[in-house]
Amino acid sequence: MKKKFLSISFVILLITGSISLVFAWGSWGHKHISRASVFALPKGMQEFYYNHIDFITENAVVPDLRRGLLNDRNEGPRHYIDIEDFGNIPLSSFPKTTKEVYKKYDSSFLNRTGYLPWYIQNITEKLTLAFKKRNKSEILFLSAELSHYVADAHMPLHTSSNHDGQLTNQKGVHALWESTLPQMFGDAYNFKTEQAKYINDIPAETWKIIAQSHSLVDTLLAIEKKVRNSFTDDNRYKKDSAGKPVMFYNSPVFSDEYAMQFNKALGGMVEQQLRLSIYDVACFWFTAWVNGGSPNLLSLDDPHLTKQNRKNYRRELGAWKKGKLLNLSIERE
Ligand SMILES: [Zn+2]
Repeated sequence: MKKKFLSISFVILLITGSISLVFAWGSWGHKHISRASVFALPKGMQEFYYNHIDFITENAVVPDLRRGLLNDRNEGPRHYIDIEDFGNIPLSSFPKTTKEVYKKYDSSFLNRTGYLPWYIQNITEKLTLAFKKRNKSEILFLSAELSHYVADAHMPLHTSSNHDGQLTNQKGVHALWESTLPQMFGDAYNFKTEQAKYINDIPAETWKIIAQSHSLVDTLLAIEKKVRNSFTDDNRYKKDSAGKPVMFYNSPVFSDEYAMQFNKALGGMVEQQLRLSIYDVACFWFTAWVNGGSPNLLSLDDPHLTKQNRKNYRRELGAWKKGKLLNLSIERE
């Protein structure tokens, strides 16, 4: 497993997150969410996670790299669930657990609809096991992985078959919401959340997150439609010096004014979902640790490392308490 980390980390270095506009939260969002989650952990876990905070921050985007860059076919459906494709059934009737879902649906169906809520449960179980085994590299790798999928579940369009507004003539709304807006306005976000709490029922919590996220889909799309209609084809998109639309992955890039108006009309929805992600990631990590027997994590690290990091740890924790994240420089896309 260690070897795999190294090669994937190397890939990240090479491509510096440049494909992230295509996927949930983009690298800006995923990195900020996982880094902030470290500070929402209780004391007993926090310093260990801080010792590895850069690893966790960087590796939070790895699932999207597997999906995009490495073209791993198994990866895609882990990132979303197209609720509408299950037919007209209420969320409360969906199979709650991984065990239940495979009794009702086969994997080829789930590969089309996506199975994000069940995959979150899978990774949580694996992380719990890693804590039980006190396997440091697995704990860190799986913590970063889990942060990715929990964060994806908070992106409303990851719960809908109209995931890029393609069914309602709103193409481009996905990346605009999750990448462009946080990058443009995220410096003003408040990254401080409540401290993580223990989750009594992991499947129920997973579905609570999906339900909250899915409840925003119609509002999000209605707001975008309204803003879209208040612009013309001429001023909706960015133009180059020759007056031609700027393209990214075969899609025209929205103008700054358009992004600004959409952000204003959303009234804080992106920041709210990002903050919920931070808190929930920390809750899932904490719960896996408790269920894994609450091992003494700092004993897995060289005491010199902990000592060396202490000054920076206190500084970053202090900044987070004021809502800020330090030491996170991210390339603009
Ligand atoms: Zn993703």
